[in-house]
Amino acid sequence: VSPWQGMNITVAGLGVSGVSAARALAGLGASVTVVDGGDSETHRAKAAELAGIGVVARLGDAETLPDGTELVVTSPGWKPSSPLFAAAAEAGVDVVGDVEIAWRLRGPDAAPWLAITGTNGKTTTTQMLASILRAAGLRTAAVGNIGTPIIDVILEGDDAYDVLAVELSSYQLHWAPSLRAHSAAVLNLAPDHLDWHGSMEAYAADKGRIYEGNQVACVYNVADPATEDLVREADVEEGARAIGFTLGTPGPSQLGVVDGILVDRAFVDNRQKNAQELAEVADVDPPAPHNIANALAAAALARAYGVKPAAVRDGLRAFTPDAHRIAHVADVDGVAYIDDSKATNTHAAEASLAAYESIVWMAGGLAKGATFDELVSRSAKRLRGVVLFGQDRALIREALARHAPQVPVVDLDRTDTGAMSQAVREAARLARPGDTVLMAPACASMDMFTNYNKRGDAFAEAVRELGRAGV
Ligand code: ADP
Repeated sequence: VSPWQGMNITVAGLGVSGVSAARALAGLGASVTVVDGGDSETHRAKAAELAGIGVVARLGDAETLPDGTELVVTSPGWKPSSPLFAAAAEAGVDVVGDVEIAWRLRGPDAAPWLAITGTNGKTTTTQMLASILRAAGLRTAAVGNIGTPIIDVILEGDDAYDVLAVELSSYQLHWAPSLRAHSAAVLNLAPDHLDWHGSMEAYAADKGRIYEGNQVACVYNVADPATEDLVREADVEEGARAIGFTLGTPGPSQLGVVDGILVDRAFVDNRQKNAQELAEVADVDPPAPHNIANALAAAALARAYGVKPAAVRDGLRAFTPDAHRIAHVADVDGVAYIDDSKATNTHAAEASLAAYESIVWMAGGLAKGATFDELVSRSAKRLRGVVLFGQDRALIREALARHAPQVPVVDLDRTDTGAMSQAVREAARLARPGDTVLMAPACASMDMFTNYNKRGDAFAEAVRELGRAGV
């Protein structure tokens, strides 16, 4: 009998991950109640759908724990401080996330996990890793915080995959106490989502959980010592190694770059050599520094799993980035227009600003409590000009006045649908041939757009308009 049979489980939230967890657990014979504070028509429609598979939805109360609950399953948006979890703690009931459920559902011969977290670059690196694993002839899927809910993939059975590339958010790690990856990487650590975690220390500690119990490799970023600290603090299996990646010449147990070649000094097969060539920088799309770092992290995990250098190269060549991540939209009058709408925080925007020389930067939106002094002072010398839009643009304007007073700034005081096309025209006016117009807003998009995809689409459309009009 499945250990889930008849178990009373409360699922927090009727979102995508909550519904997927509820379905899976009900399918395993658990008795599931989904609780949600909302009580709109959409909520009721979803509740009716779940009723069809025997799941109870309790709407309009997100705070009290249903009687008899034996386990609570969370959703990403729910803060650890939510009253429901306090009620669970009081009742001595465990609270876990979808990743923990997936982990517990694995059979004895399930595919091992190569896991990835970090403030930025998770999705890209996970996709690069999956591409490398596929090039090595392995059956794999990119799962977790991206794509198909992880529980659904695990329910396909132990035989469905050889190895999984798993993207994990800090939220998921927070609620996955028994997860033990084959190998794992923390790409970087910068302040983000601090409202959820409560502090930088708590955020880092949640990220660091990814290394717990690693069997083969704990991959860290040499340029970001906080990631190495997390490896040092983790309790790993005997024989598991710390493996660094660096954009410079690699030391022993590191992967790095030498004369435009990605090289591996950590997993060296051939005793004759002290480094394996993996791929060329030009094999990585886009070949921007932060993205080379992503490629090295993906390569490290693949190598830890035993993938050969040629498959690393083939997998990186086969990889194409998702939309709105440093996507080259068009050249107009000798100026390149780049859409990095996915740069929704300052750390991401700094990475893309570092990839170009003479930039007209388009930025603004919802700052989510961020400050812009560091970003602006580090990027000031690359800026030809700046076009600001969105709700919190004054924060960026003030940082520019402090650290880059010589840089011309156009401040757009409109948030209607035409704002992006005016912003692009202003950027075109500031740019000189050879420059790059980079939309890397360092802010969330929801003040003006439904999401970052729509913001990127609006930018691309405005650039095409500009191309048609001629400047
Ligand atoms: P995530 O899944 O962590 O949000 P993505 O791969 O979707 O990360 O990339 C998000 C944004 O972060 C990209 O648009 C890019 O600007 C930036 N980025 C990607 N990789 C890195 C990195 N290694 N360091 C800093 N910024 C990065």
